[in-house]
Amino acid sequence: MKFNREELLKKQEEYEQQSQKYFEETTREIALVNYSNELIRFYRRVPIQMAKKRPDLWDVASELSPFVLEYLIEWIRLHDHNRKIKFWSVYVLPVLEKRMATYKRGKTGVSEEYQKLKDKYPVDQLAEQYTKLGKVMNGKRKGLCPLHKDTDPSFTVYLESNSFYCFGCQQGGDTITLFRMLNEEYNE
Ligand SMILES: [Zn+2]
Repeated sequence: MKFNREELLKKQEEYEQQSQKYFEETTREIALVNYSNELIRFYRRVPIQMAKKRPDLWDVASELSPFVLEYLIEWIRLHDHNRKIKFWSVYVLPVLEKRMATYKRGKTGVSEEYQKLKDKYPVDQLAEQYTKLGKVMNGKRKGLCPLHKDTDPSFTVYLESNSFYCFGCQQGGDTITLFRMLNEEYNE
């Protein structure tokens, strides 16, 4: 049997392409195994029937890493495309794509969410579950600090910026910071 040179080169090229393909597939599979827990959580958390009625459930997408998001988007585009009944592309894809866009824009999306969340809960209302606050004076409310053993009111809530600062223990922040600190304090 005789091979000519060109044929050999062609075979060689084919072989290289094939190995490159296998290599890429394997790398991808390894990465996927690493992220599989995240994926399992995603699929489990969202029962299809419920998700149709309650698109807000897809907020679970906010917990996904960019890699998993990208993978899911690709998967949906590929698989849902050939289905008679479209589900993923209708209900899920827009949410995932929106989330992906947020990642690409950088941190702005995240801080918007954060802003929304903290504006929803006034600091003084949260603080009052743990301490007594005085009346509003110059846009401030003062009370004994729920974060340290306070003797005179050094805990100050600034209503306009919805933030707090304690002149005793020198801790401050927004509602979310306070919530976190209070939970640490009272769980110890
Ligand atoms: Zn304090």
